[in-house]
Amino acid sequence: MFDGLSKKLGDVLGRLRGRGALNEADVDAALREVRLALLEADVALPVVKQFIDGVRPKAVGAEVIRSVSPGQMVVKIVHDHLVEMLGGEASELNLNAVPPVVVLMVGLQGSGKTTTTAKIARRLTLGPQGMAADAFGGSFKERKKVLMASLDVTRPAAQEQLRILGEQAGVATLPIVPFEQPLGITRRALDEGRRGGYDVIMLDTAGRLAIDEQLMAEVAAVRDASKPTETLLVADAMTGQDAVNTARAFNEKVGITGIVLTRVDGDARGGAALSMRTVTGRPIKLLGAGEKIDALEQFHPDRIATRILG
Ligand code: GDP
Repeated sequence: MFDGLSKKLGDVLGRLRGRGALNEADVDAALREVRLALLEADVALPVVKQFIDGVRPKAVGAEVIRSVSPGQMVVKIVHDHLVEMLGGEASELNLNAVPPVVVLMVGLQGSGKTTTTAKIARRLTLGPQGMAADAFGGSFKERKKVLMASLDVTRPAAQEQLRILGEQAGVATLPIVPFEQPLGITRRALDEGRRGGYDVIMLDTAGRLAIDEQLMAEVAAVRDASKPTETLLVADAMTGQDAVNTARAFNEKVGITGIVLTRVDGDARGGAALSMRTVTGRPIKLLGAGEKIDALEQFHPDRIATRILG
């Protein structure tokens, strides 16, 4: 585990072997390497600083257990602090409200929002069927009747894209009414949700290439009209340094309850997870791990911590 970082810290701290506790100079030398590892993993700069400031007091003066090297000791302290900052435990979807429960999906265009909406809807529809008992904790322990609606009226193909995904996933989508505006679609989805006895309504909002006031105002209006139980920010794991701005803007303007990190099947080391969690204080709830409809995973802080430290 953390072979790269362990070796570097071993080089830096090797001379410490035989001494009892980690001193300030050694810790600072080690944390310089940790800082580089976090930056390489694309953790946003202010978050790297916050991380180092938080972990330093835990490392300085720590007794080095006889059975491990000082390098391994620092790696363990850093890893544990990282897991803590990532939220410690896996976090479940909250669907505890009077049905139909609304799940609002927000994020930038191209983040994987529509795909993720269909993935979650399908998993809810299937419930525990075809899933290892502990795969998702309790998030999907019951089968749900789900209705999806696309509120993206800016991209002509967006509503059609969700309809096709719904067909593939075996999930109902709200029929498309040409030229209807997002708030109108929202109200119709809520009506249909109640009338049709749906458990969950998933609203896929429009994204933009970058954050803008108009997008935020639109999403906030939909939030007010639909009173979501979960508002999930969908974000690309490759977001890197932009992760902080995206997460902060959506959390301030719309208020999010959780994050879904997509494209973890790619090369990204997952630093965006730490950046977004730290800036919003909201848990990462799920991971998108591929284009396929079933490529959805539970978020495990310890696994991402391992990946971030490399
Ligand atoms: P939206 O604009 O945010 O709604 O994004 P889409 O859902 O249309 O996704 C954009 C592209 O990313 C599509 O080609 C998806 O198949 C792809 N995509 C979505 N999630 C993932 C993922 O977890 N991994 C990979 N590799 N591709 C994904």
